[in-house]
Amino acid sequence: MPELPEVEVTRLSFAQRITGAKVVSVRLGKALRWPLGCPPAQLAGRSVLAVRRRGKYLLIDLDQGLLLVHLGMSGRLSFARHLPAVGNHDHFEMVTTGGTLRLTDPRRFGAVVYVAAGEDAPAARKLLGKLGAEPLSEEFDVNQFYAGLKRRKAAIKQVLLAGDLVVGLGNIYACEALFLAGIRPTVSAARLSRPRVAKLHAAIRDVLARALAKGGSTLRDFSSAKGQCGHFQFETMVYARQGQTCRVCATVIRSLRQGQRSTFYCPHCQIS
Ligand SMILES: [Zn+2]
Repeated sequence: MPELPEVEVTRLSFAQRITGAKVVSVRLGKALRWPLGCPPAQLAGRSVLAVRRRGKYLLIDLDQGLLLVHLGMSGRLSFARHLPAVGNHDHFEMVTTGGTLRLTDPRRFGAVVYVAAGEDAPAARKLLGKLGAEPLSEEFDVNQFYAGLKRRKAAIKQVLLAGDLVVGLGNIYACEALFLAGIRPTVSAARLSRPRVAKLHAAIRDVLARALAKGGSTLRDFSSAKGQCGHFQFETMVYARQGQTCRVCATVIRSLRQGQRSTFYCPHCQIS
């Protein structure tokens, strides 16, 4: 599932090239998670002003309104002057004067939603409103993070995945950040001391920044809008390494189920 680094890698791979382009036409395939919200023809003639990211959403600013893009479970964007013929899993395509942007999404949990009134409109707020702090920005403040964790009794890993304190941490990066911080994923968030929270705060930034530098993680079929795969999955410390030895202490990495997801941890390096 594309997480924050993959969405940011996607953004960086086409944002500059599409900025300034004019929409020529939009074609829809099968229904995605949410409807587009306007007749496709209404987008023709709009100019692309910028491509931003909020959590796992891409925001394509148009001269009137914006498009919210979510990659869902299996979505990926391509952007090029000439793309191969439309395939079975291509469900949104926007031809612009700068190239064609296409969403390929076999499982169709992704979506492209047009919001005429901008990101403060109720339709956009519904999607963006509950998001926590951006982990790589200044707004991700260690004091607020500590205060937020103090109010949550759930296991720290579940709190990280929920995304209402800090966005963008899916399974792989939550597991990796907790390993770096030496924190057992099952510990109650409220029980973490301030120094341990400070360590976790730094670990989250570190993991996401390194993943970004590696082009994200390609677990199944992620690739950027230029078609490049990520490489971070080759250097995980615990994720998907159950039964193998810890790269730090040689203890065998364990896995357990937490809220329908697998959690991976080192029983020696990560204490409760
Ligand atoms: Zn270890």
